[in-house]
Amino acid sequence: MDLAENIAKVKANIEAAARAAGRDPSGITLVAATKTQTSGTIRAAIAAGITVCGENRVQELTAHLADGAYAGAALHFIGHLQTNKVKYVVGRVDLIHSVSSEKLLLAIDRQAEKAGVIQDILLEVNVAGEESKSGFPPEQVPEMAALAGNMTHINLRGLMCIPPAAQHIGDNFRYFEKMRQFCVDIRREIGDNKTDNPILSMGMSGDYPDAIRAGATHIRVGTALFGPRPPMTGHT
Ligand SMILES: *Cc1c(COP(=O)(O)O)cnc(C)c1O
Repeated sequence: MDLAENIAKVKANIEAAARAAGRDPSGITLVAATKTQTSGTIRAAIAAGITVCGENRVQELTAHLADGAYAGAALHFIGHLQTNKVKYVVGRVDLIHSVSSEKLLLAIDRQAEKAGVIQDILLEVNVAGEESKSGFPPEQVPEMAALAGNMTHINLRGLMCIPPAAQHIGDNFRYFEKMRQFCVDIRREIGDNKTDNPILSMGMSGDYPDAIRAGATHIRVGTALFGPRPPMTGHT
């Protein structure tokens, strides 16, 4: 695996997809999905131009933070988060993408207050209504956005989704389009709504060009940067 070459390839693809959609490529942030990677690989990725790391598991996050692996990059949490682990994440990451329940929203607000921080978050939407996936059902998004918008220690920045794994180019475009519409619907609840543009976190190795075409501002890419991973074992 040549990390620098992979990064260059993904960046070129981002640029091409953005241009094809009439978008400015600088409006798209590449989040490197670093789950299962070593601290050494994370450091190498940052040295090669990665500016945002997205971590999935609290245990890996804590270990990599302890040895300073993310130095020089922003840090996002993109994985499933259990309410009893919010204290390891809140105030330690710049953005939590994967807020998927009301209970978690409340726990993050409470922990952020305790830590004396305002935590930036996204709401995760179960855009395809999949039984097996976490995230809010689409019809619940406006209500949850209003709730988050009223919390004192949460700053709602936008939405995130993980649609079904794409088999073909174009498969997930309709889901990404739906997400963009949800972002318009909750515009009033986003950050300081006069200046902050909503963050739309969507698109992974298999479908990020479609996500960019539909308006993604953040894509989360693992395999296309780091190569195939060993199979996942559990959630955290
Ligand atoms: C692993 C992961 C990604 C990246 O997936 P790839 O298909 O390897 O690009 C993106 N988002 C989340 C939430 C992930 O867990």
